[in-house]
Amino acid sequence: MNTRSFWAVPLALALAAAAPAQTPAPVIHRYAAGATGLFVNAYLVETPHGVVAIDATLTESDSKALRAQLDSLGKPLLAVLLTHGHPDHYNGVTNLLAGRAVPPPVLATAGVDSVIRANDAAQEAQWKPLFGDEWPAQRTFPSRIVRDGESVTFDGATFIVHALGPGESYNNSYWVLQGRRGTRRNPGTPGAAFIGDVVLNGVHAYMADGHTAGWLANIERVRDALAPDMAVYPGHGDPGGPDMLDLIVGASGTDLDIGWRGVAHNFPLAPNATLRMCLNTCGPDGTPPCGMQALVGAQEPNGATFGPPLPLLSANVPICVVNEWNATIMLRELAATFRNRLSISRWFSPKRLGSS
Ligand SMILES: [Zn+2]
Repeated sequence: MNTRSFWAVPLALALAAAAPAQTPAPVIHRYAAGATGLFVNAYLVETPHGVVAIDATLTESDSKALRAQLDSLGKPLLAVLLTHGHPDHYNGVTNLLAGRAVPPPVLATAGVDSVIRANDAAQEAQWKPLFGDEWPAQRTFPSRIVRDGESVTFDGATFIVHALGPGESYNNSYWVLQGRRGTRRNPGTPGAAFIGDVVLNGVHAYMADGHTAGWLANIERVRDALAPDMAVYPGHGDPGGPDMLDLIVGASGTDLDIGWRGVAHNFPLAPNATLRMCLNTCGPDGTPPCGMQALVGAQEPNGATFGPPLPLLSANVPICVVNEWNATIMLRELAATFRNRLSISRWFSPKRLGSS
């Protein structure tokens, strides 16, 4: 008689019966603001006994609606995690915390925290005239600083923060909700990344802070860091996968805009084209400011899709777009924006045909 197999089966059954039931995976709820709230997202990560918020929206109306969504879950708020220091991500923290005897912690990296504290008054002075009563009268700042790479756990959900430095804002970070390894009985869950405004997915990008080269570097860095099966939750626009960090011209609805004053808009771009650009002239250790160069032409990686040069008629004035980028002009005169899926702007400098 084979005693080994005789005992093995009941033992396995007994172990299975004794194993604790696996905690349910967190459920991620999205709050998506409309146009008056700049299409910003906040997320509520629901665990068995609580909720962790990621960002908090901009306006009074949106943050109150976010609070109502949170309250409808019937669980306590455990923490607020901030991705970066733009008001559309932290203004609503006050409404999330309102009325709580023991307010939960508001977590941010030191860089994000310092940007909020340094710029909050100036942001209010600039934007309150536009938003009026929708601008929260009180803002709540972070109460707990987290280090780059630090992990925090709330009700079994573990988040790791990654500091990115300047990019879409003066200081950015992203949070990764750790996934779970699967077992024979319980399937695993992939991780989820809350990337803030590293990508504005299908929403026109905010370029005014000017760290474009740092932003491009952040995109590359986050793209490299995320596992292919991760869910990715951007600060604006629809969630998706890591491919939202691929800079690809959308299949439809994408155009090229040049200039702030509308002299040249809506030039069509080839669907699904990819523009490869190189950072150059960085400091010896790769630090910005960097130049950016896209080589185009039949013999170059980008092929002839984008030039060179790309002849255009703008208000009956012949211009050509050359694929050179110059940080000193990017916020003044010339902007080329790939919209739709791309969500990141590229900069070109046009020059008149025939000029030297
Ligand atoms: Zn934003």
